[in-house]
Amino acid sequence: MVAAHSVSFDPVIARERRRRLLAWYRAHARAMPWRRTSDPYRIWVSETMLQQTQVATATPYYVRFVARFPNVAALARAPLSDVLSHWSGLGYYRRARHLHAAAQLVVREHRGRVPDDPLAFGALPGVGRYTTGAVLSIAFDRKLPVLDGNVARVLTRWYALPVAPRDPAGARRLWELATALVPMRGAGDWNQALMELGAVVCTPRSPRCDVCPVAASCRALTLGRAEAFPIATKRRATERVRRAVALIEHRGRVLLERRDGALLAGLWEPPGVELAAGADAGAALRSKLHALGVSATLADSGACVRHTITHRAITVEVWHARARAVPRRGALRWVERHAPTLALTALARKLIARARW
Ligand code: SF4
Repeated sequence: MVAAHSVSFDPVIARERRRRLLAWYRAHARAMPWRRTSDPYRIWVSETMLQQTQVATATPYYVRFVARFPNVAALARAPLSDVLSHWSGLGYYRRARHLHAAAQLVVREHRGRVPDDPLAFGALPGVGRYTTGAVLSIAFDRKLPVLDGNVARVLTRWYALPVAPRDPAGARRLWELATALVPMRGAGDWNQALMELGAVVCTPRSPRCDVCPVAASCRALTLGRAEAFPIATKRRATERVRRAVALIEHRGRVLLERRDGALLAGLWEPPGVELAAGADAGAALRSKLHALGVSATLADSGACVRHTITHRAITVEVWHARARAVPRRGALRWVERHAPTLALTALARKLIARARW
């Protein structure tokens, strides 16, 4: 067992720790093309590419991408096929689709300027909490934290926190700690310093504690347990879940609702409801639509879609609906079913692709 420790925030100690890490970062940060700019668009492109891709792989793609699409407006007016061809080989093409859709929204709704407000930026397709923190702290010096795998590893070791970053409770704890540590000024350098430390010194295996700038205050090192952190996520039994969704289509468009919750927050999906054991799907769905203010006639399509998300195996009963009235609300949107411009859940993509209207 790893011992739990409380986290100390003595301001003098915190300042000294910060100073050491930042001094190390300034002296040792690897040269990367996006580190030579404060252009929020270019930083955003780099952060998007780096989400599932190593720095060495992403670098030539980044250089070609920003040469072809040097600003938000250029990206927004480019055909999607051109954007995808510049992404070709990087994988995870949803990132490119989202970036393209988001650029068009920035042009339409923010006069072509990347918004520096976390709510506005975080509402763009494909932009989650990590990307919001990274882009806005680096480009605009907004006091926002980041938490990725590298930062989670550094923090759990530095503070000997016995939490699993992939567990919702562990992630919450780490976001709180990352938030508390961000300085008032220089948030971007601080965040990059943490990420860099995790990437090149505090590595998953064989961390280089002998050259680490925070070794003197690292609790995991003091315990002689650096590699014991972060602790692994406990395997959870698969939970079986029943859900009913309403596919509401009107002239080629489909009605979507913004999801909440730890895993799907900010993503869009046809309105649906989780069903208790033995619940009547039609009644539950009717009451859900009523709560949304949607007036519709429902018909069971008889189709079931199976979907798995982390530890949940979901059986989705699909209902078709003819909408009589739909309120104009923040949590509901009509989108073109063949070219949705919102970030969809994987289930939504599956449902829309299989729907027979
Ligand atoms: Fe990581 Fe070692 Fe530095 Fe602690 S001393 S933060 S374990 S590299």
